[in-house]
Amino acid sequence: MANKNIPLVDLKAQFDFIKGEIYEAIKQVLESQCFVMGEEVRLFEKEFADFCGARHCISVASGTAALHLALVACGIGEGDEVITVPNTFIATTEAISYARAKIVFVDIDPATYTIDVDQLEQSITKRTKAIIPVHLFGHPANMKRIIEIAQKYKLKVIEDVAQAHGAKLHGQSVGTFGDIGCFSFFPAKNLGAYGDAGAIITNNDVFAKHIRLLCNHGREKKYEHEIEGFNYRLDTLQAAVLRVKLKYLPQWIEARRKRALYYKELLHNLPLIIPQEAPGCYHAYHLYVIQAQKRDIIRTSLSQQGIETGIHYPLPLHLQNAYRYLNHCKGDFPVTEACANSIISLPLYPELSDRDQYDVAQTIHKVLSFEQARKAITIGGTN
Ligand SMILES: *Cc1c(COP(=O)(O)O)cnc(C)c1O
Repeated sequence: MANKNIPLVDLKAQFDFIKGEIYEAIKQVLESQCFVMGEEVRLFEKEFADFCGARHCISVASGTAALHLALVACGIGEGDEVITVPNTFIATTEAISYARAKIVFVDIDPATYTIDVDQLEQSITKRTKAIIPVHLFGHPANMKRIIEIAQKYKLKVIEDVAQAHGAKLHGQSVGTFGDIGCFSFFPAKNLGAYGDAGAIITNNDVFAKHIRLLCNHGREKKYEHEIEGFNYRLDTLQAAVLRVKLKYLPQWIEARRKRALYYKELLHNLPLIIPQEAPGCYHAYHLYVIQAQKRDIIRTSLSQQGIETGIHYPLPLHLQNAYRYLNHCKGDFPVTEACANSIISLPLYPELSDRDQYDVAQTIHKVLSFEQARKAITIGGTN
């Protein structure tokens, strides 16, 4: 059978498009021999803050570092509880543990894969200090309700925006609704560096100043340390790469949205759940996640055609060995668990062609109509 060779993400296609500018940007950093902080980093922070419509941006070494610093800046520590979801990448909860706080899970809303705001209040205790909503797959969490609840209980809100650069709610960028927004620029993210990188945005001057100190050994001057901090700075080379890519981000997100719309057209009428956009939301489509009863059969058929898929995420965090100590069991977060058994991430990136998308959809159509026919025969036989 013809191998179509369609990857889940194609970073090489993007690189080919911006190669000239990237080489030039890297060359300039090499010529300057400035590798930590400096002008490129300062300019990237300014440009990324503008892109998000935030007052401050502090660039950091990774998305995980961003989340950790955000929690420290909010004063979260031993004995505090932080609420997040079990269907996220482990970095979200690792950061809570780094801050020595306790992880408290709340299940997700099946329509958006983000925190179920109707279950949020019942998980708040006297020890709860913060909520970390995750804008998973690029879809905004219900920030209006989250902020209302946070204000009622005087909780901090730290947004995990690692998958949602450019996503908006009523025209406002996610990451600017809570106290602090945390981004990852891991290479495969919608805005990806050529290594690890991340950023924090905030409109709060006090948090911004504190985080800037924390990420650079607690200093303002070279050998004068106001506090003990971390080495969580962004590399200059990464800032230079990110500045080139940031210029294209709006058009790349638009291209992702067009691809998502085309999938919607191609996959309609099939027994699948396709991604939805809640009212007022601008989905950034970091991942195109569908749900199917016949998940594994579909994945196998796509794979046989050379079409790569993913599962984000196959084992929810509350069932991971790393969190056995939290004493959760199967059934604790039924929506997350049901999703984990039926989700498939389809190839989606700006450079994907109509033809490739059509082939992905055709393969799914074939599998499902075959399965339907098989079922009809089986039912006919038993009658
Ligand atoms: C990628 C990701 C992170 C962590 O980012 P790193 O830059 O890899 O440290 C955090 N949260 C979510 C939801 C992510 O997808």
